[in-house]
Amino acid sequence: MKLNEIIKQSLNDELNRQQNHIELIASENYVSEAVLIANGSIFTNKYAEGYPNRRYYGGCKFVDQVETLGIETAKKLFEAEHVNIQPHSGSQANAAAYKAFLKPNDKVLAMDLKAGGHLTHGFELNFSGEIYNFEFYGVNKDTYYIDFEEVRKKALEFKPNLILAGASAYSREIDFVKFRKIADEVGAYLMVDMAHIAGLVAAKAHPNPCLVADVVTTTTHKTLRGARGGMILCKAKYAKKVDSAVFPGTQGGPLEHLIAGKTQALIEASDQSFVDYANQVIKNAKALCEVLIENDIFVLTNGTDNHLINFEVKSKFNITGKQAEAILESIGIVCNKELLPFDTESSVNTSGLRVGSAAMTTRGFKENEFKEVGRIIVDALNQNKDLEVLKNEVKNLCDKFPIYENIKY
Ligand SMILES: *Cc1c(COP(=O)(O)O)cnc(C)c1O
Repeated sequence: MKLNEIIKQSLNDELNRQQNHIELIASENYVSEAVLIANGSIFTNKYAEGYPNRRYYGGCKFVDQVETLGIETAKKLFEAEHVNIQPHSGSQANAAAYKAFLKPNDKVLAMDLKAGGHLTHGFELNFSGEIYNFEFYGVNKDTYYIDFEEVRKKALEFKPNLILAGASAYSREIDFVKFRKIADEVGAYLMVDMAHIAGLVAAKAHPNPCLVADVVTTTTHKTLRGARGGMILCKAKYAKKVDSAVFPGTQGGPLEHLIAGKTQALIEASDQSFVDYANQVIKNAKALCEVLIENDIFVLTNGTDNHLINFEVKSKFNITGKQAEAILESIGIVCNKELLPFDTESSVNTSGLRVGSAAMTTRGFKENEFKEVGRIIVDALNQNKDLEVLKNEVKNLCDKFPIYENIKY
């Protein structure tokens, strides 16, 4: 059978879309062509319930080879004693990690969604909020840094079974040792969700939570730049309960084609070129941040240590985050509105934006390009420049940094 015409057209349209805009969504990236090949491979045909060398299906010799390579590469890269590479997504990884360490109604202390946490960290409409008893910590009202006084105070009061560190919108280094100390003080497990920063951790550009946490979950497609999926890393003594929480606890057959894509990415992340990439990601975020601050935009925490920046648009430009997102999209810059801590706007409108440098750094942008992007963002949101002119500047930048030159559908 030939590829359906609508699918084919949509894939080519998407290829053009990805080529012709500046991607600042902090959770997105461009995988290598090798990862794409692995993702779209014949492993999609294979059932492999179980784990390498102990499967419930025959014919697993070759998927075993790849899954084992993925596990061993991840163990080395993150200095982890045990790795499960099967979770279908970051959310699935969290579901399995909770199941391994908690019983329904057990208590979890996690970062508030409004302060930068994730839906799977206890949001009321998410399975996590339904099954477990969550309490939240936030950020300091003056500095916007994690408020460890509050974390400790809440931990002592609430006596959680598990403390969760990690976020979707936090731009500063997270002090996992401080979390460990508080967890030990109250006798809680420490879980870290490093979904956003996994690539930086792999490159040793951010402290490694695997050294101190009982269990670490991650996505594999954000700064780690691999196949869309999840992963769990833990101490050897928890291997069995983590593995059985993934299968048969929360999943059936693993997606071996995506495990191949994750494995390829982990191998790429073990190379010096990825260390250079991760460090450039941080330099680029800092460069963009400088331009925003120079233009009197309120940047949360007044800077960044990683790939992402949260900033306020309402007071400076008198527009909501939603409006700002739409203006930028109209000139080819894609990012997302962000509900800020202590935001007075609704979650539909918001006062801010979240941007990240991971994707455009993959395309080859350096500090100069990110400074130019910062200037274009300010001009666009100021609304005193012809948007057509800015749109052209975006297009010119994109043309200079092509993606996937060998791919056409
Ligand atoms: C993105 C993210 C997830 C969820 O990942 P999905 O693959 O979208 O399910 C979980 N936790 C954090 C902190 C994230 O940023």
